[in-house]
Amino acid sequence: LGSLKHHECEAILVTCSENVRYLSGFTGEDSWLVVAPGRATLVTDSRFAEEAERACTACEIHVRKGALAAETAGLLRIGGCAVGFEAADLSVKTVDDIRGLLKKRISLKATTGVVEALRVIKDDVEIAAVKAAIRCAERAFRTALSEVRSDITESAFAAALEYHMRLLGAAGAAFPTIVAADPDSSLPHAKPGNARICGAASFLVDWGARVDGYNSDLTRVISTGTVSPRMSRVCRTVRAAQKAAIKAVKPGVSAAGVDALARKVITDAGFGEFYGHGLGHGVGLAVHEGPALSPRAAGRLRAGMIVTVEPGIYLPGEGGVRIEDMVLVTSRGAEVLTHVAREPGRLAAAVRPQEARRGR
Ligand code: ZN
Ligand code: ZN
Repeated sequence: LGSLKHHECEAILVTCSENVRYLSGFTGEDSWLVVAPGRATLVTDSRFAEEAERACTACEIHVRKGALAAETAGLLRIGGCAVGFEAADLSVKTVDDIRGLLKKRISLKATTGVVEALRVIKDDVEIAAVKAAIRCAERAFRTALSEVRSDITESAFAAALEYHMRLLGAAGAAFPTIVAADPDSSLPHAKPGNARICGAASFLVDWGARVDGYNSDLTRVISTGTVSPRMSRVCRTVRAAQKAAIKAVKPGVSAAGVDALARKVITDAGFGEFYGHGLGHGVGLAVHEGPALSPRAAGRLRAGMIVTVEPGIYLPGEGGVRIEDMVLVTSRGAEVLTHVAREPGRLAAAVRPQEARRGR
C-alpha cells in the first residue's frame, strides 16, 4: 500500500468488498478492514466471526455488537491523523456519519484506486482462479449449446447457461447473461427476452462464471440461419480487429495503443461509426476492473494483467457482432486463456436443435 503516502494518509479504511477480500482473504459481507502500518483489523459481525478467524490469519478481528460505522470510527484512532477512505465505494452519508463520530484530531480523506492498483497484477493463485472461472463458463456454454431446442428463447438459453455454470461449481453468473438474437444483438447490452434464437440468422451471447470469487467474461456470436454478406463481413472485420489487438499485447505497450490497433481495422473497413465502446477491461475479483483498454486509457500493460479483448460492430436494426476473449499478459506476449470456438458457423455446428417434445 505504498501509494498511501502519495495520498498523505497514515492508514486506510477499506470498505469495497473485493478489496477487503484481496487484502485479508475474508469472503463474507458487511465487513470493513482498517489498514495501518504494521496492523490490520477486520471489523465484522457474529455471522462471519468463525469464517473470519479461519480466513484472516494476518489481521486482527473485531466482532462488532453495534453499528458498523460507529465501531469502525472507534477503531480509527489507531490510524493517527489522516485516514483514507474509498471514495468510489462509500456513500456521502456514511462518510458524514463516520466523520461525526471521529475524534477531532483525526481526518478522513478521499482516496481512489489504492487497492485497485495492486489488484491489476495477478499472482499465480489468482491466474489459476480466473482460469477455473473460464473453464466453468466454457464447459457450461458447450453443454447449453448442445441442448438447444428449436423453440428455445433468449431468456431460456440464458437460464440454461447459468444453470450449467452453477452445476459446474460456479457461485453464479459473473453478471446477468446477455443473449440477443438479431436484430437485438445491435444493442451492446441487450436484455434477453422472448425472441427465439434458432430462427434468427445469428445470436450473441455474453456470459461469465464466478468461481471462488474470481470471474470470467466471454462473448460469442452463433449463426444458426443464413447470414447476409454484410454481416459476414462484419464478423470477419471484428475477428481481424481482435487478432490485431491480441498480437500487440505485451508488457510495455500502451493500453490506448492496443485499443487503437483494433479500432483502425474496424474504421478502415468502414464500420468505425458502429463501434462505440472501449476494447477491453481487466477481470479478476470484479468483472470490470483495471486496466481499461480504451482510447482514454493512460497506462501501459504489465506482465500479470488479465484483460478482455472485445471489439464489436453494431448495425442498428440489423444486428451486432462482438467477440470477447480473455488474455493474460506475459513476458512473451498475450496468452489467450479462452478457448471456445470463435467462428459463428463452427459454433452453429454444435447446435443440433432437438425438437420440442410434445406431450410424453
Ligand atoms: Zn462480456
Ligand atoms: Zn467484458
